[in-house]
Amino acid sequence: MATLVLWLLVVAFVSAFAAQVATRVRLIAAAPGQFSLDHVGARVQHFVVDVVLQVRTIRERPIAGLAHALVFWGFIAFGGYTVVEFLNGLGIANLTDTRWFWAYRIILIPFATAVLGGILFLLVRRAVFRPAALGRNVSIESIVIACFIATLMVTFLLGFNLDEDTLAGRINWWTHMSVILAFLALIPASKHLHLVLSPITVFLKSPELGRVPNLDFEKEEVGLETVKDLPKKTVLDALTCVECGRCEVNCPAFGAGKALNPKTLILQAQAAVLAGAGERERKLGDVFSPEVLWQCTTCGACENQCPVGVEHIPMIIGARRGLVSNGQAPEYLGAMYNHLERRKNIWGLGYDQRTRFVGSAALEIFDPTKHDVLVWLGCAGAFESDFQKSLRSLFDILRAQDIRFGVLSKEQCTGDPAKRTGNEYMFQELAQANIEELKAAGPKKILTSCPHCVKTIGDDYRRFGYEVEIVHSSVFVAELMRDTPAPAGDSQPVTFHDPCYLGRYAGKVDEPRELLVKFGGDVKEPERNRENPFCCGAGGGLLFADKEEEPGSRISDIRFKQLTATGANTVVTACPFCSIMLKGAQASAPANDVQFIDLMTFVRDRHAIAASPDRPITSSPNHPIA
Ligand code: SF4
Ligand code: SF4
Repeated sequence: MATLVLWLLVVAFVSAFAAQVATRVRLIAAAPGQFSLDHVGARVQHFVVDVVLQVRTIRERPIAGLAHALVFWGFIAFGGYTVVEFLNGLGIANLTDTRWFWAYRIILIPFATAVLGGILFLLVRRAVFRPAALGRNVSIESIVIACFIATLMVTFLLGFNLDEDTLAGRINWWTHMSVILAFLALIPASKHLHLVLSPITVFLKSPELGRVPNLDFEKEEVGLETVKDLPKKTVLDALTCVECGRCEVNCPAFGAGKALNPKTLILQAQAAVLAGAGERERKLGDVFSPEVLWQCTTCGACENQCPVGVEHIPMIIGARRGLVSNGQAPEYLGAMYNHLERRKNIWGLGYDQRTRFVGSAALEIFDPTKHDVLVWLGCAGAFESDFQKSLRSLFDILRAQDIRFGVLSKEQCTGDPAKRTGNEYMFQELAQANIEELKAAGPKKILTSCPHCVKTIGDDYRRFGYEVEIVHSSVFVAELMRDTPAPAGDSQPVTFHDPCYLGRYAGKVDEPRELLVKFGGDVKEPERNRENPFCCGAGGGLLFADKEEEPGSRISDIRFKQLTATGANTVVTACPFCSIMLKGAQASAPANDVQFIDLMTFVRDRHAIAASPDRPITSSPNHPIA
């Protein structure tokens, strides 16, 4: 009789589980696009680190993360036990009297204790202390699930003291088995679906941060316009979100009081996807609100922190593409696109200004037979007078170290601002033109001082089949000067602002510090540093936004305060856009004596390398004058 009852319960609850999972699998299968499975080695590595070892979960919230990891590892450990108990209860096979099963049960005791401790901690945290990132309202569903898990562990431990043939023993066993079945039926309709989906989502997450696949214009792709356009990975992401709020608390826009909240975006996508046929034609601009979509700096903090592999940036940029293709880009972007279209640089300046800089800095045109490395100037280096000084410092260092370098005779904006703001057509035009030039020049290594150019040429151009080694100047110079004796002199307190596209995207955080320390910097770390910096507010086209009209605080003002709170009055930057934003924040801050200096200038000056004088502009085959 007991066996029959268990069979009926298993069939009912497993069917409920399977039906709900099938609905979600159908939603994912019906979504357009394909999952990407490139770089399998890197994906396996992420899987081991983030799923098996739970590193990302523990890293940001060590106590809560460890409690969660204990529960996860306990679940894995209990897998075999649960199967054996069901096989026994259903009358399929009785393995419970075997020696190995007894040994297994003994081994599970510390796991059960750890899971119980972990889940009680999480229960109290959710129900009593409730951090803001978890939302204002206590989730009944989370409380029920936590009680289920605690009950499973308690009944397992009680099983050692209760004879299964007694009434108390039978009640204990049935409680354990019923809770497992109820848990199973509850999973798919709750955020605990992440138990099933997150290992898959993490494996399918792009190994490269902020990957936004190219649009294929021949297939008339224009970006994401309606709910039915959301691609497979985005639908999977939306269904996997565990609502932990890590993306929210790390988002600089949210932190600055703007309407953008990456967690809300994902949950809005989830609600729209689950709403079914009625919502499929709904415009994404109505699901998310365009105002919110344009507030993202593409800093990558959200997807970098997400423990379950959600990728926010492709969804945000995909939706921006949909808006751009319908002529709904903000006005400030229209002006920038105009500059890119007419002048091929974000400032809208004449090309002769780059030519003048190339001439006055005595730069040679790259020739693979003569030069070791091609220096990519970028829009900032080629046209922005402040950053040109930084590039001159780099040139002085390279010359002092006998590095032979040249530049392209024709270089256009990489297209980064077009790509990140959703103007894919313009991005592809710029990218193709640059790739043609680069292929003709044939460098094996490109050096640039702009972290955005590193990302765009290194990652985005690869999707057009152009592969080249591109390295940021901080990394190149750190390697170059590793054996150079450190200069004598007093140390100077400095704070380094990690650019998002260098620290978070490229993971280059040690090399800038190595240079600072070597050349006399006493590095004072600000809050939010290294691989998880607080953005300067420039990325994703927001460099061009009207700062006076921004809702909430300015991201750059918040970062300026964080940097100056270290007490060091020298702030070192390594990105032209960070430099512009932070100097802008300084100008509107109360009187202060903070000095900004670019990393290359810091190295050159502390190493006492003489600055090259400007050369008169001459026309020669190597320095063509427009
Ligand atoms: S990329 Fe940065 S700004 Fe954009 S949603 Fe994510 S955390 Fe916020
Ligand atoms: S998207 Fe990721 S980080 Fe954000 S709430 Fe969901 S699970 Fe947490």
